[in-house]
This record gives sequence, structure tokens and C-alpha cells, in this order.
Amino acid sequence: KADTAMYQAKESGRGSLYFYNDEMRNSVAERLAMEKALHYALERDEFYLVYQPQVDGNGNILGFEALLRWHSKELGQVPPSRFIPIAEETGFIAELGQWVLDTACQQLKKWQEAGLPPLFKALAINISPSQFAKDSFVETIEQVIERTCIDPSLLDLEITEGMLVESISSVAAKMRSLKKQQVHFSIDDFGTGYSSLRYLQHLPLDQLKIDQSFVRDISHDPNSHVIINTIVSMARHMNLSVLAEGVEYVEEKNILTGIGCTRFQGYYFSRPVDVQSATNLLANASCLPLELVPQEAEAV
Ligand code: C2E
Ligand code: MG
Ligand code: MG
Ligand code: MG
Repeated sequence: KADTAMYQAKESGRGSLYFYNDEMRNSVAERLAMEKALHYALERDEFYLVYQPQVDGNGNILGFEALLRWHSKELGQVPPSRFIPIAEETGFIAELGQWVLDTACQQLKKWQEAGLPPLFKALAINISPSQFAKDSFVETIEQVIERTCIDPSLLDLEITEGMLVESISSVAAKMRSLKKQQVHFSIDDFGTGYSSLRYLQHLPLDQLKIDQSFVRDISHDPNSHVIINTIVSMARHMNLSVLAEGVEYVEEKNILTGIGCTRFQGYYFSRPVDVQSATNLLANASCLPLELVPQEAEAV
């Protein structure tokens, strides 16, 4: 897109020259640098996963969400919010998503063998819309399950409303094939998409993850309170679990608990941590809230 804009600015002469400024040159250059660096990042082993606990109201660990990190030799630490959209646009996400699946499932297998705490239900893995859209998606997941010998019921695939570019019936068909193997599905960032809620009726979902933008406002914005209340009661009627994302403060946790939310993820309980710290957390089976324990900060 940026390339086209620059091209047009040059073509249409003087009047448009102000488009062609330093800021844009930087962003185009930066984008190209990132594309190039991404291209080599897998073979250079620059990606790694961190794991953020998902807990109940007492801090018992119910699962982890695997979150991708990239430490680029040229660019330093690049957050997923910056490189994932580019990986999506360039198609690199297919390979990268495969790496995430393999790495997360291999780790899950190790944890499974070491013995998981009794309440541990799932390792959540983010699936991008274009990964889900592939005809081979179901097969890809089946193969990783087979290769790594994990218990498939421990897999929680996080999809977003963005996967609804396909027809609901084909999305549902893919999900049903995997549900036969007990794989779980969550809708990530629930409430932020532009789609109608109709899909909820037709998809075999297990959980809604309330987006952190609602949680962030809950203690001072009555509207957020109402929205979360509505999501929780809707989920209850539809037999879906609800997990609140981005819980940073005890007040938020208390309000959410009052509304009936029983699963949480957020800095209040734990930041995403490296694999060794995650393994240690599993041994304790719980995450004491921030006030009670010094946090192990995410290794950068
Ligand atoms: P997400 O799946 O909604 O993940 C939750 C994000 O919220 C993570 O950001 C996490 O670090 C952050 N977070 C957790 N608790 C808190 C909190 O209390 N406060 C605040 N402010 N933030 C919190 P992260 O790791 O930067 O990831 C951003 C997004 O990048 C993810 O959002 C997800 O959409 C995407 N992503 C990350 N890893 C992967 C991956 O392996 N594959 C794909 N396709 N997308 C990924
Ligand atoms: Mg997620
Ligand atoms: Mg989310
Ligand atoms: Mg998000």
C-alpha cells in the first residue's frame, strides 16, 4: 500500500509531493527491513515463545497462552503487534504459524510427561485468520498432534472474528473435524470484531476471551461493565466459558468476579514468562497475585 502511495505521489507531480515525506520514507524502509529480517528469522532461530498463565480466582493455573516473541539481530526485540500483520500480508505466517504450533506442542508434550497440575486444562495457541483459512488447516493440526503425541484435549486454539471471511458453514466444518479429537476453540479479543454475533450460534466454540479493552475500562466506565456483564450472561446461556484478558489490578479482578467471571489472564497474576519460569509455575500449580509475590518479569 505504501509503495503504491509513493508511486502515485511521484506520478501526479508537484501537488502531491508532500505525501512523499521522511516519515513515509522511513516507514517504507522500515517495512522493507522488517520483511527482509523476517525472511531470515526462522533459520537464524530468532523466534521463541513465552507463556502467560490463565488462572481461576484463586490463582490456580488452568492453562497457558503461548505468545510469540522475535529478537531480531538487526532490529532488536520486535513486538508481535508489529511483525504479525506483516507476516500475514507476505504469507510468511504459514511457516511461522507452523513453527509456533510445533514448538508449543513439543513443550506441551514435555509438560504432559512431567505431570500437569490437576486443574491444568489447556495450552492456548493463537491461530491467525490466514492460517485458519487454509484448506490444509485441519490436517496441519492433526499432524502436529500426531507428531508430538500430545493429548489433543489440552489444545485450545484461539481464533478471532477475522476468520469469518470464510462462510460460517466452512468455518464450522473445520472446527467440527477437530472437535472430534477434543480440540478446544476460543474466540480471542471477543467484542472487538465487526462481525454480527450470529456466528456464535453456528460454531462449536468452548470459550470467549473478553478483550482487554473492556477490562481496562471496567472500574470507571459503566458501559464496559454492562458489556462484560452481557458477555458473561450470554456465554452462560450458551454454555461457553469466559476468560477475561488483560487483568492488571485487584479491583478489576474483584469486579469481574462479582459479574461471574471465573477465568483470568493478565499482569495482575503474571506476565508472560519464559519456558523455564513457566515450568516452575507448573510445579507450584498456582500464580499468587502481584501483591503477594515478586513477579518474574518477562525476559526480553
Ligand atoms: P492476544 O492473543 O490477545 O494476546 C494477549 C496480549 O495481551 C499479549 O500481547 C499479552 O502479552 C498481552 N497482555 C496480557 N496480559 C496483559 C495485561 O494485563 N495488560 C496488558 N496491557 N497486556 C496484557 P502480545 O504477546 O504482545 O501479543 C499481541 C498479539 O499478537 C496477541 O494478542 C495475538 O493477537 C498476536 N500473537 C501473539 N503470538 C502469536 C502467535 O503465535 N500467532 C499469532 N497468529 N498471533 C500471535
Ligand atoms: Mg490470544
Ligand atoms: Mg486477546
Ligand atoms: Mg489481541
